Amino acid sequence: MAFESLSDKLQNIFKNLRGKGRLTEEDVKAALKEVKIALLEADVNFKVVKDFVKKVNERAVGQDVMNSLTPGQMVIKIVNEELTNLMGSETTELKLLPDNQITVIMMMGLQGAGKTTTTAKIAGKLKAKGKRPLLVACDVYRPAAIEQLKINGEKQQVPVFSMGDKQKPLNIAKAAIEHAKKNNNNVVILDTAGRLHVDEDMMNELVEIRDNIELTQTVLVVDAMTGQDAVNVAKEFNEKIGIDGIIVTKLDGDTRGGAALSIKAITGKPILYIGMGEKLSDLEQFHPDRMASRILG
Ligand code: GDP
Repeated sequence: MAFESLSDKLQNIFKNLRGKGRLTEEDVKAALKEVKIALLEADVNFKVVKDFVKKVNERAVGQDVMNSLTPGQMVIKIVNEELTNLMGSETTELKLLPDNQITVIMMMGLQGAGKTTTTAKIAGKLKAKGKRPLLVACDVYRPAAIEQLKINGEKQQVPVFSMGDKQKPLNIAKAAIEHAKKNNNNVVILDTAGRLHVDEDMMNELVEIRDNIELTQTVLVVDAMTGQDAVNVAKEFNEKIGIDGIIVTKLDGDTRGGAALSIKAITGKPILYIGMGEKLSDLEQFHPDRMASRILG
């Protein structure tokens, strides 16, 4: 397939400008048009694209071209840096309390986003760090979800706490923390219920847990394949519950990852990990610079 990457396109636009000392408004305008198209194609939210292009424009026009670079490379450099900034300039870790305290993490997300799988993936990572996690089945609406968590917990050799489907999620969470105290578990990960759409009951249930349990952090799991929907979901969860960190799943697919960029830009919350497959080991640290390159193609 003859696929021209954005970098190639920008090099082309500037190919006659080699040696020119300073980026003019005209040059930058032509380049930013390509940048805009590439970002929209990568499913980046329209408003995010607009703000981004404006920012790059302000920085690039009138900028001296570094001696070692062509004008095209100079614009690419600026685009890359700004894109990386927008995505959070460094990797962010899950917040964990010292080993003698219990870290409580509430996992949230729509059904199918990959929440239960990701919960087990995180448990594996924490175990490898020497933590003693306890997974908690708070999805009382789908017995299959409880079963899935148990199976995944077993695969990771991490205990799973469940009270079946007759108790309120808040009560399950409270009991789980007591259980953790008695059994020497120092990270409690609540796998809450996912619905097909954001609805009020779901939000109320999460608010009830948030208001009655001392959560160390809330983590939202979103599916990169759902593009702009993922952005709306993140916005809504952030407004109603408050999210501390985000995990974007299914980035092993052919999506360019524009959703990841938009979610970060719109919520301002860090992306902690990315899901790169169905296997329980397929969870990677999020690197803003790598995602920037992926989006630019
Ligand atoms: P939940 O309803 O949010 O708990 O979602 P599940 O954890 O049950 O995941 C839904 C589907 O997505 C399952 O088939 C998972 O194997 C799959 N899945 C989860 N994370 C990833 C990922 O990062 N990449 C891929 N390709 N599939 C994933």
